[in-house]
Amino acid sequence: MTAAMTTAPTTTASIGAVPSAREAALVPGEVVLDEFVEARGPWSAVVEAGNVLTIVDLEGNQAVDCLLYAAADHSVRYSASATIARQRSIVLTTGSVLRADNGEALMTVVADEVGVHDTIGGACSQESNTLRYGQHTREQHACVENFLVEGSRWGLGKRDLVSNINWFMNVPVDPDGALGIVDGLSAPGKRVALRAEAATLVLVSNCPQINNPCNGFNPTPVRMIVTRPAAAPSVQTPEESAR
Ligand SMILES: [Zn+2]
Repeated sequence: MTAAMTTAPTTTASIGAVPSAREAALVPGEVVLDEFVEARGPWSAVVEAGNVLTIVDLEGNQAVDCLLYAAADHSVRYSASATIARQRSIVLTTGSVLRADNGEALMTVVADEVGVHDTIGGACSQESNTLRYGQHTREQHACVENFLVEGSRWGLGKRDLVSNINWFMNVPVDPDGALGIVDGLSAPGKRVALRAEAATLVLVSNCPQINNPCNGFNPTPVRMIVTRPAAAPSVQTPEESAR
């Protein structure tokens, strides 16, 4: 399975012309990456500090399972509990700082067209599918398999997989504490944008799940665009201005 396609998938043709990366990026800037992730496929890239990753839910209602690692040290990795505790909210949206287990900020959500993204639903696996949906789902490809295949390109293995983010996924918590996996709040073309605070390895599984509504029972492609925003005017330090 290829990790990413460099041309637009044919399935998007039905929803109109594909906008350019410059148009589709939620935060404007020089386009440094523009890739389509096929339905059910994995993807990964290092987003350099200051650059912004826009994830486009091309056809709507597509869960994008995501793990983050400091590019310089993969033992520094996204932590759901550190992120949730610090922001005192279980959902991600604009302003959310995605923190590593040591408290370090890896990325910040700088723009969001959905408003709610999940931190607690986790990733599907062959094992969990079998437990939840029956033995006949055993052979279905799942997010953990995507993470392992794609993570192996970066030397990551099963012990490196931690609780992940689910972009575009809606997991409401009932008053009694029960979790729901229900229809998403996303829609075709909705986007979320993440600015890297440090060079960050972004590992993604474009969720293949077909046994619950997280992908509307129909996994679809997503688009990844990295832009480098125009640099803010530099501020001279007193030492520099004295030179
Ligand atoms: Zn999944």
